[in-house]
Amino acid sequence: MNAEEKKIVTRMVSIYCRSAHGSKAQLCDECNALLIYAHQRLERCPFGEEKPTCASCPIHCYKSDMRLKIKEVMRTAGPRMLFLHPIDAVKHFHKERQRNRHFAAKAKLSKKTE
Ligand SMILES: [Zn+2]
Repeated sequence: MNAEEKKIVTRMVSIYCRSAHGSKAQLCDECNALLIYAHQRLERCPFGEEKPTCASCPIHCYKSDMRLKIKEVMRTAGPRMLFLHPIDAVKHFHKERQRNRHFAAKAKLSKKTE
């Protein structure tokens, strides 16, 4: 379930870990734990394949420490995704825009102020 989202979060975490923690081929323990957690959340997401992207999701199922970490990952890796994996990034943001229409604009607002 959510194979595409899993691929994206995997890439984002590895971009982040390389730049923030200087990791090479493998993720550090902290990022590895975060990635496993993120995959579990995707598997259990009640929206299934119809889920909004996590940034615009109204549930925010991450527990708070993981949420902080994943936010940091998005902030660091998000812009880089556009250069490294432009097709995935565009697809992801396109999906986010489409699905945002179905959800409250609240999540979007808090994203802008960060
Ligand atoms: Zn790391």
